[in-house]
Amino acid sequence: MPRVLLLAATTGYQTRAFGDAAERLGVDLVFATDRCNVLDDPWQDRAVPIRFSDEGLSAALILEAIRTKPVDGVLAVGDRPTVIAANVGAALGLKCHSVEAAATARSKQLTRERLRGAGVPAPWFLTTPVSSDARLLGPPITFPCVVKPLALSGSRGVIRANDAAELVAAFYRLRAILQAPDIRGERRPDHTMALVEGFIPGREFAVEGLLNEGALHLLAIFDKPDPMDGPFFEETIYVTPSSASSDQQRAIVDTVSRAAEAIGLSHGPIHAECRVNEEGVYVLEVAARPIGGLCARALRFTRGASASTSSLEELLLRHVLGESAEGWRRESMASGVMMIPIPRRGVFRDVVGLDEARSVSGVFDVRITAKPDQLLVPLPEGASYLGFIFARAATSLEVEHSLRAAHACLEFAIDPEVPMLQSLHG
Ligand code: ADP
Repeated sequence: MPRVLLLAATTGYQTRAFGDAAERLGVDLVFATDRCNVLDDPWQDRAVPIRFSDEGLSAALILEAIRTKPVDGVLAVGDRPTVIAANVGAALGLKCHSVEAAATARSKQLTRERLRGAGVPAPWFLTTPVSSDARLLGPPITFPCVVKPLALSGSRGVIRANDAAELVAAFYRLRAILQAPDIRGERRPDHTMALVEGFIPGREFAVEGLLNEGALHLLAIFDKPDPMDGPFFEETIYVTPSSASSDQQRAIVDTVSRAAEAIGLSHGPIHAECRVNEEGVYVLEVAARPIGGLCARALRFTRGASASTSSLEELLLRHVLGESAEGWRRESMASGVMMIPIPRRGVFRDVVGLDEARSVSGVFDVRITAKPDQLLVPLPEGASYLGFIFARAATSLEVEHSLRAAHACLEFAIDPEVPMLQSLHG
């Protein structure tokens, strides 16, 4: 039985989806998850306990754990374990993204440098310590611009500034975000830096693909129909197929492919984000991993004339075990997902309207992932969503309407966060 190592933050939805796909394919899955290794298998899932913040140690722990039973492939979900996965893959001589490429993709600064070096369209940019006095930053800064951390994801800490005063405020805000315990705990030097770059107007797209020895096999182009003009950049709706013209789609795929090559990514899943305007396609990032978590449910694939569909996880397992992605196509139905935005900071209590939302035509699932009594933190400080809505229909426009209609059915009870002292005294 072939064995595949899967690195994930915790064992959650996506690891279960991989579990189901592995069972179907007769693959033995080995997990490595981010957790405190002094506990002895706290989740009872026999995952190798690693610490994403210590990439070298994590790779060594995994290699030791699989020494007597090596794996035939390595996959990472989420940005943080991609470099560890590349390290393990390299040590085992497996075909996968190189360590250097995975590390470049993880760094917004290195990505920008590689794209510029390769002549792939990129905005002006500079990096500076986040403690800098932003009033003293001179050229090339023009407005509007975007301030962002070097190695966070999900738009966390990404802030648009329209003038000098907003730039100073954005630096203060990013400085506070980078002080969060979960970020400081990673002890990455680049968490002390800020990247400032030109704001790129235009429509935004996401590209899901599989690189096969450098050649990009396109899995999907998603439109992001909600304008993302800032000041913060919450992801909401992804729909596919894209409504972009075929020329535009070709330009998107071509530029993403060049960007992946410039970063050095060569074999395995990629997820890219880009903006398109009259000047061309600007790649914001190419991650060395597939689309995140639950969103993968929006994708199903078929091969040849077969009517049955396969999950993205199944495709990824097949690919990592050496099967070509050629012949696999996304299903013909349009499909989409809404990442339900957090409307305001507060304590999540309850949601009503789930049954109505689920009965909206085209909607095939609504998942609320926020837990009762959880503190909800919107962007730019936050790092999560309230949940996800999924829909399928004949056209992308219908999918978008279904997602919006289902969202309109939902009412979230969010209480103001009461500071401890105030509640004791009042
Ligand atoms: P993350 O890895 O956290 O998602 P990104 O750099 O991809 O960070 O930025 C998140 C979002 O912020 C993008 O999807 C886009 O909407 C917006 N954004 C980032 N950089 C720019 C830019 N230079 N111009 C316009 N929008 C941007």
